[in-house]
Amino acid sequence: MMLFDLHVHTTISICSQLKIDDILKHAKHRGLDGVCITDHQTMNIRHHIREGIQNDGLCILFGMEYTTDDGDFLIFGPFEDIAEDLSATELLRQVKQLGGAAIAAHPFRKNRAVQEYVIREGLCDIVESVNGRNTDAENHRVDSWRQKYFLTESGGSDAHSLNELGKVRTGFAMPVRSRADLIFALKNGLCYPQQNMPDNIFWKNAACSPEYHAPLF
Ligand SMILES: [Zn+2]
Ligand SMILES: [Zn+2]
Repeated sequence: MMLFDLHVHTTISICSQLKIDDILKHAKHRGLDGVCITDHQTMNIRHHIREGIQNDGLCILFGMEYTTDDGDFLIFGPFEDIAEDLSATELLRQVKQLGGAAIAAHPFRKNRAVQEYVIREGLCDIVESVNGRNTDAENHRVDSWRQKYFLTESGGSDAHSLNELGKVRTGFAMPVRSRADLIFALKNGLCYPQQNMPDNIFWKNAACSPEYHAPLF
């Protein structure tokens, strides 16, 4: 079993203060085996670090958070040069055509919700049911979709600062060492989200000693 934070913004996103070097330095201490870099509308992370297993064993994979009028999507695949301003339907069709995977990000977040037709019409069947920046109430609203649809669920911190890195993780029931592994695992439902850790528990456990390994929640 491997634990990833699937939703992390670096300073390449203007809204984020989380430095790439700090991700590389702290992710393993937070109990993570891997981190997916999902900056807003760009995969420029590729010009800064190498994708894949780093020297210390940490797996870094590149994706993107793509904003549409009908919701935000974490996309993984060959999307370095994807067109801008696609509608959700166009985006999700391209993701499928190019063999990628898309996750409906924080689907019930106030003001940034994913529209239900996307799920109902089968354009996307992977949902970020635990998002570290959502309130618990917002995360719990995914229940209404669970009752109606067959969903694959993931979790991510949506970190924009070092404090948040690893706060929510996704467990994988197979080894994930490459972007292709990640896409395979997501598309085949070989993953599940861990709960959003309350800040006090997270911080007590995240004390950054190199020896520390986060307990499995
Ligand atoms: Zn942001
Ligand atoms: Zn985000």
